[in-house]
Amino acid sequence: MTAARRFLLLTCLLAVAGQLAGAIEGLNRLESVEPSTPGEEPGVVFRFSRRPEFVRVPLENSLVLVLDFVETAFEPIKKSLDFDQGPIRSLGLTQFSRDRVRLSLKLARRARVEIFRQPQGEQWVLTLRVVTGGRSAGEPDTAALRAASGGGSAVVVLDAGHGGRDEGARGRSSREKDVTLAVALAARDVFQRDPRIKVYLTRSSDRYVALDERSSFADRVKANVFVSIHANSTKEGNPSGVEIYFLSLKGASDEESRRQAERENSAGDDSGRSTNNILEAILDNMVQTSTINQSSKLANILMRKWTRVTGQKPRGIRQAGFRVLKPVNIPSVLVETGFISNSREERLLAEPRYHDAVGKVLYQSVVEYLTSAGQL
Ligand SMILES: [Zn+2]
Repeated sequence: MTAARRFLLLTCLLAVAGQLAGAIEGLNRLESVEPSTPGEEPGVVFRFSRRPEFVRVPLENSLVLVLDFVETAFEPIKKSLDFDQGPIRSLGLTQFSRDRVRLSLKLARRARVEIFRQPQGEQWVLTLRVVTGGRSAGEPDTAALRAASGGGSAVVVLDAGHGGRDEGARGRSSREKDVTLAVALAARDVFQRDPRIKVYLTRSSDRYVALDERSSFADRVKANVFVSIHANSTKEGNPSGVEIYFLSLKGASDEESRRQAERENSAGDDSGRSTNNILEAILDNMVQTSTINQSSKLANILMRKWTRVTGQKPRGIRQAGFRVLKPVNIPSVLVETGFISNSREERLLAEPRYHDAVGKVLYQSVVEYLTSAGQL
């Protein structure tokens, strides 16, 4: 059967071209993209100046495959290729950030996608092959992708909220910045015992870190998951319990969440507010939505385990426009561990036993999430 004639459209967003001009130095270069030769399995051939490294962006849509080539730039190119590739519907390439090229491949039907890399003369060739025979259903083969990326290891960033001159909320005898650090350090100990996971903290001592720096750090280390840890306080009533937030693009899910985001967004931070406009402008909506769905999954796992282990009240999973979560195109959640304005909960949040317990909860939740996302 002859496949219908398709168009391979290579589009590139030049929003960051200006930035790129001076920054390509030192990066791997994506030099050409072509459909594979007729007669072979349908696919695409990429040529790089050196060995390409990539990570897979988790998506729920099994007809779409998104890969990020890391430490890679491509010369601004804009062309469309005419080719006969039945199973491939479209292909998009974007210089997603200064050193990341994002490939989105849309398939016409479910198929296994295999990736091969090999040196060829001065270049490295990466072949992406859509295997149409032999497997009629199923997800694109993530195992093959993982093997190709040398993966099986995931990167987790734990973010202890506030720090240094930014104390966060205050209880009678404790400060938010100390609680968040104690939880992050306890969690790190647990994560470090698992050789499959690389764990990073945005701070491991009492120091000030700007909000934007926290998320860009997660981006830099190519995190699979970002968890920001906070503690709550309020003068209204005497509430207690755990809240978990994840990013909303549309705004807060309720008024209280909006105010909470406002509080955390302004916490002692005077760094630039207009950063990431460029990144936001080129965010691929589909990927962004999927990242939010992934974050929601992680939030649900975390809330279930957290409240079961600590006996704390679940106050809800909410969406809000937290700045610390915003620029990260990585599944991310923010945990308000409890209210230090509530004296009973303040005592709980100060206990080393509690830090160890929720450290374990964080670990188990992230592992469950990564496993379900095919990243462990
Ligand atoms: Zn906070």
